[in-house]
Amino acid sequence: MSTTYKGIHTICTHAGQLIDEQHKGAVSPIYLSSSYAFMDVDVKRYPRYFNTPNQEGLSKKIAALEKTEAAMIFGSGMAAVSTSLLSFLQSGDHIVLQQTLYGGTYNLVVEEFEKYGIKYTFTEDLSESAFAKAITPQTKVIYIETPSNPLMKVTDMSMVTKLAKKHGIITMIDNTFASPINQNPVDFGVDVIIHSATKYMGGHSDICAGAVASSQEHIDKIWHLAKNLGGSLSDMTVWMLERSMKTMSLRVKAQNKNAKKIAKWLEEKEEISVVYYPGLKSHKDYHLAKKQMKGFGGMMSFELAPHIDPELFQKALHLIKPSMSLAGVESTMLSPAQTSHFLLGEEERKKQGIAEGLIRFSVGIEDKEDLMADIDQALEAVIKKTVLVAD
Ligand SMILES: *Cc1c(COP(=O)(O)O)cnc(C)c1O
Repeated sequence: MSTTYKGIHTICTHAGQLIDEQHKGAVSPIYLSSSYAFMDVDVKRYPRYFNTPNQEGLSKKIAALEKTEAAMIFGSGMAAVSTSLLSFLQSGDHIVLQQTLYGGTYNLVVEEFEKYGIKYTFTEDLSESAFAKAITPQTKVIYIETPSNPLMKVTDMSMVTKLAKKHGIITMIDNTFASPINQNPVDFGVDVIIHSATKYMGGHSDICAGAVASSQEHIDKIWHLAKNLGGSLSDMTVWMLERSMKTMSLRVKAQNKNAKKIAKWLEEKEEISVVYYPGLKSHKDYHLAKKQMKGFGGMMSFELAPHIDPELFQKALHLIKPSMSLAGVESTMLSPAQTSHFLLGEEERKKQGIAEGLIRFSVGIEDKEDLMADIDQALEAVIKKTVLVAD
């Protein structure tokens, strides 16, 4: 990047953009070639080498957003997660991970790592002593995710990175829920920052992609494995992602604002027994969140009072879509007990604090009054229906 932009909105709009020298168009041209010249060129380009012009441009935007030297874009969040992990782990190595992780990451570890001879320890407790206890002489990586799904628990990044540095261990974070707008893990010493770009970076529920941001040295290492594993993103989608990211700062800030207001409002309602949002003073990690986040994000969860059926409630919503995934401009809700945490079983869910009536809420950019009205009418409809049945 020739220019260094300071403001987050300017970075989102301009960083890494490609210049249309030929026609002087305002936006990045899209280069779809999968065949480039090999003679008399500086770089031998190929989509699976992660070095087409559009991939390079967007990588610069992501690096600028995460304040790192370099970045890479992948075909999915899980391609970014798996390639990053396997770049730093080999047979005989050990990794420490926090227990509450994105389901796909958890499955990758428990279903695949054994055959590569990689040992792992999960810690449910996010305290320093718990992480310290999990470390062995073979530990090469500590992997965290904060805020985590669905209870929005916050992990202390500074604590983890200090501990890791003492032992010469690499730290990795899944920064998807916060987005680079609300949290820059590099400020707290985290080495490798991973995103499912399917979420806030894409932001319109129409792109599946991933990203990794880190030092040039670490990115070089990840690149060496990435070109062999082959998880690159098509340039058509890279271009769409660049377009989406121009408005990421505006979207995420609007989502932060909506979520905070709605979380406070939900907390007052008698039909809601508890709200989990890191921006609420009642959240047990509020102070930590305040220390390491610039905004509290658009993700929250809440528990319906026992007399309100979660399925009926979600079916009664008109505006908010009960649907999987998250972080789009449109608000969505889901029941972790029916989706992401279904396979755990009721007992294990209870142990992890995930109630059957827990609803995860991805707050969009709609007017908050409309979202609140939708929740109110859905609650009313369910209560009415329940009373009728009881009669
Ligand atoms: C969705 C998600 C992923 C996986 O991303 P995909 O793009 O679906 O592969 C990883 N981590 C978190 C926190 C996610 O929400």
